[in-house]
Amino acid sequence: MIAGKKLLVVSAHAADYVWRSAGTIAHYIKCGADVQIVCLSFGIRGESNDLWKKGGQTEESVKAIRKAETLKAAEILGVKNNIEFWDLEDYCMNLTPEIYDRMVLKIREIRPDIIITHDKFDILNPDHNHVSEMVYSCSIMSNSSGISAGNTKVTKQMKLFGFEPHQTEISNFKPGSYIDITDSYEQKLAAMQCFQAQNHLIKYYTDRAFLRGNHARRISGNPDIKYAECFANFFPIVGNELY
Ligand SMILES: [Zn+2]
Repeated sequence: MIAGKKLLVVSAHAADYVWRSAGTIAHYIKCGADVQIVCLSFGIRGESNDLWKKGGQTEESVKAIRKAETLKAAEILGVKNNIEFWDLEDYCMNLTPEIYDRMVLKIREIRPDIIITHDKFDILNPDHNHVSEMVYSCSIMSNSSGISAGNTKVTKQMKLFGFEPHQTEISNFKPGSYIDITDSYEQKLAAMQCFQAQNHLIKYYTDRAFLRGNHARRISGNPDIKYAECFANFFPIVGNELY
């Protein structure tokens, strides 16, 4: 049951959450979930190449464009005001103990049922790896009574899922969960089209959704699945039935 669930999405750079989880975010919102997105950086240094190539740009102008694009994409997905920017420097992202504390506080404030972030290893993006390690650590630190964060109460371990990295096979990515995004695929497409700086990725992630849809259809036997996103499971599934 998705309705009423709280989902926290932590994205290293401004557009990461769109390429890798936009369909799932829009699907969850459509089904009544509460989704909060944290963008740790705008990806100015490492993920805005097409903007810099235009010339005449400054860090501030690139940041303004990236922020506007990200907000527009989030609105298309139905996120509206539930997105925040921590404006950290990227490439290389320095995640200090203070940033860890801030993330523990955020987790305790939101109290998500599910966190989606970068998977444990991305061969071509150290920032993604640092963020994965931080979010994983903070999801566990948040449960510990010995760690204080304002007046917040400790949490119980929430589910944690990892984005599919760009270079799937050579990043040792293992799909653990496939999400049918057929009902939200058009929103994902429109959200991807917001990003001028990474225009080349649109076809790539369109093809990926089609490929994962094929896998999801074959594995589930559901002929109606056209598009899917997949995620790594940080923890095993626990329940009273096998599924
Ligand atoms: Zn990124």
